[in-house]
Amino acid sequence: MKKILSVNAGSSSLKFQLFKMPNEKVIAKGLIERIGLSHSIISIAYHADGEEKNFKQTKDIANHEEAVDLLFKLFYILSIVNDSSEIKGVGHRVASGGELFPDSVVITEDVIDQIDSLGYLAPLHNPAQAKVIRSFKDVLPATLMVAVFDTSFHATLPSENYLYSIPYEYYEKYGVRKYGFHGTSHSYVAKRAAELLNRPIEDLKIVTCHLGNGASVAAVEGGRSVDTSMGFTPLAGLTMGTRSGDVDPSILPFLMEKLGLDEVDDMIAILNNKSGLLGLSGISSDMRDIETAAVSGNVRAKLALEIFVNRVQKYIGSYMAEMNGADAVVFTAGIGENSSSIRQAIVSGLSWFGMEIDEQRNDTRKEAIISKKGAKVAVLNVPTNEEIEIARQVERLGEGVKISN
Ligand code: AMP
Repeated sequence: MKKILSVNAGSSSLKFQLFKMPNEKVIAKGLIERIGLSHSIISIAYHADGEEKNFKQTKDIANHEEAVDLLFKLFYILSIVNDSSEIKGVGHRVASGGELFPDSVVITEDVIDQIDSLGYLAPLHNPAQAKVIRSFKDVLPATLMVAVFDTSFHATLPSENYLYSIPYEYYEKYGVRKYGFHGTSHSYVAKRAAELLNRPIEDLKIVTCHLGNGASVAAVEGGRSVDTSMGFTPLAGLTMGTRSGDVDPSILPFLMEKLGLDEVDDMIAILNNKSGLLGLSGISSDMRDIETAAVSGNVRAKLALEIFVNRVQKYIGSYMAEMNGADAVVFTAGIGENSSSIRQAIVSGLSWFGMEIDEQRNDTRKEAIISKKGAKVAVLNVPTNEEIEIARQVERLGEGVKISN
């Protein structure tokens, strides 16, 4: 049986899904959290002996290397994998591929070094992900490994959309440009939307809204990303859980002086970790808490919600202008998939563009067309599945590849 493992490593976590291919059945999925902290938590849901089972354990895991070793021990103990040769490929989600990787790539030693060297574009993620890939290589030295970059789907952006209006030489010398993120998710939901609409993606203009703790919007024309709201880093664009999204950069030196900050990194940390829904509401970065507080009359939670909705509407509108129209708007990720009221709030302000939500159809967390029949622009809910997209990339690149290191 052919098994492919999708790996998504964060700075202190490691998420995975093991698929049976080619039928894409999930054999096991799980999460190791609090890596590097005390009381790390390992949880695995898996299928063995014809039954669905759950494993949970708390123990100290010092680093990602230990996490990877433990994961494989558990695979054998829980009979999820009997022999490592059953795993025919591993796909690793990598935050930034910069301009070096416009597509997923088979991992070699050079590729790992290059991922590491792009750390200046994703300091919390790329170096940690390079380490995780090395740990997997230690355990599975002869297995195909593929890197799938969050940025690759946006490699098709035209230069007028990826360049900032600053001296051109900063792009040439230092690579300062929009890279975008969440590409695997935008790509997956755009393709699914075309399938659900039963139309070739080549003929469609789609605005995809990935609304999670991190959030971004993309303009997808003919299946290719032509614009997206995140930028040089994931800090740009929409109001997010703790990130500010777009702000006037002149605010930075002004606030640094007011707050007595000497280091610009401290200011950037405020924009990354203390802003967005959390900063506006003073309550939480979690949209569920914001919605609950807003319903019970909390004025700042209501304001945070209104600003969140407003920014999504602005990006949808501007991408419809950029593509000279749209056939579909797609919602995905934690907020997009689960909150029918936020989808309703966003779309109700866009009726002039030919969008209308069908309340009954919108009452769902599953894949569905949620706009009224005959509406000019279709609106869809499509739960994202980055893991399966990563496994598919491993299959695509794995054909005919011989592993040399
Ligand atoms: P993600 O980053 O995709 O995991 O999404 C996390 C975000 O989704 C958090 O802000 C959650 O509060 C939000 N979320 C999850 N479920 C719901 C829900 N039922 N209603 C509103 N927001 C939700």
